[in-house]
Amino acid sequence: MDFHFSPEEKAFRQDLRAWLKENVPPDWEGVFLEEEEKEWRQGREFVKKLSDKGWVAPSWPKEYGGMEASPALQLVYNEEMGYHRAPIGSVVQAVGYIGPAILAFGTEEQKKQHLPPITAGEIVWCQGFSEPEAGSDLAALQTRAVKDGDDYVINGTKIWTSNAHRSDWCILLARTDPAAPKHKGIGFFLVDMKSPGITVQPIINMANVHSFNQVFLEDVRVPKSGLLGQENQGWFITIMALDFERSTLVAAAISMAKRNLDELIDYCKETKVNGGTLLDNPLVRHKLAEMTIEIEVGKYMVYRVVSLQARQEPGSIEAAVCKLYNTELDVRVANTGIQILGLYGQLQRDSKWAQLMGRFQKSYMYALAMTVGGGSSEIQRNIIAMRGLGLPRR
Ligand SMILES: Cc1cc2nc3c(=O)[nH]c(=O)nc-3n(C[C@H](O)[C@H](O)[C@H](O)COP(=O)(O)OP(=O)(O)OC[C@H]3O[C@@H](n4cnc5c(N)ncnc54)[C@H](O)[C@@H]3O)c2cc1C
Repeated sequence: MDFHFSPEEKAFRQDLRAWLKENVPPDWEGVFLEEEEKEWRQGREFVKKLSDKGWVAPSWPKEYGGMEASPALQLVYNEEMGYHRAPIGSVVQAVGYIGPAILAFGTEEQKKQHLPPITAGEIVWCQGFSEPEAGSDLAALQTRAVKDGDDYVINGTKIWTSNAHRSDWCILLARTDPAAPKHKGIGFFLVDMKSPGITVQPIINMANVHSFNQVFLEDVRVPKSGLLGQENQGWFITIMALDFERSTLVAAAISMAKRNLDELIDYCKETKVNGGTLLDNPLVRHKLAEMTIEIEVGKYMVYRVVSLQARQEPGSIEAAVCKLYNTELDVRVANTGIQILGLYGQLQRDSKWAQLMGRFQKSYMYALAMTVGGGSSEIQRNIIAMRGLGLPRR
């Protein structure tokens, strides 16, 4: 057991930290998900700068614009990006699990076509998995892909597709063999979002922002070269992608929660009440102490997943434990902030009375969403119970 980072990893952390201090936009409000138009533009400009440094996808091979970073170096990167709230939301999916799926299952041609534009910060990807009747039970998806000459013709609808309205490409699951058992007849497609027959309809989220969409596919022709892996291998690729998605989502999120907590502690030290500061209240002190412990626990869960990845050992149970604990912890941290800030905590950042740029109000709403996206908490508990503890399916 050795939790120390190597000299190379420490040096990278220092370089990256210094660069982030210089380059995260000064008026960046630190919400991570660049949903509003201005944030989106700032995020895309930031990714371009990151690309000039060769830092968009550290763990990828150098020939596709990566650094061939070890899992530990990638962890350092995720921690710093999260702590500095770097605006990389537009590439998180592509870098975290779409690119790795293409690397693992793609042809040489697919890798050359799709990976360099991601590390160059030119192309945005979205994920077309969920459907109105297939979310937790994803394999129940109904979208159909029928072979026709050199193409597949795709019909169906996808829902909750984050950033579909800003994406160039989409990873899309569609049923290639309706007669096969539901997990076995699925294809994994790489679809150009400009293809005729695709309509993107906005869905406004509970923070009143257009973040996800419903996507309708009507006779969309996808060339055979757009199939990733074998025709009915889609579920296998999806499982790998979802494991990566879970560990990607939480590594930066826990550092972001730590930053929120650090700023909350500073706020409590500085805020005067009844002749003292907020810190004189034992309830506040205990809550902050409790959150500090939980964030440490969450951090070491991430380290555990990374150490398994470094040894190339299976870690889907650990990834589920980590996703479950850390996304629910984000809710607890957000709740703590809202409670300590009192009525101010409910104000949005554009109010002159908002504290800490209204971050706790925003993260209060978004943290809850993260317990659903990437597989809900209940589904993570099912995975842990069945695959981890060997309990029967109910
Ligand atoms: C912020 C956000 C972004 C998202 N982005 C994308 C995206 O880009 N692309 C994409 O494809 N999808 C995306 N999703 C969709 C997400 O993957 C689904 O919402 C999720 O898988 C749950 O599916 P559902 O919404 O259909 O809920 P359902 O599956 O209908 O679940 C409803 C409730 O029932 C519970 N439940 C369901 N089955 C079980 C069970 N077997 N045991 C116990 N409880 C169960 C669930 O936990 C949940 O509480 C996003 C979701 C969110 C919140």
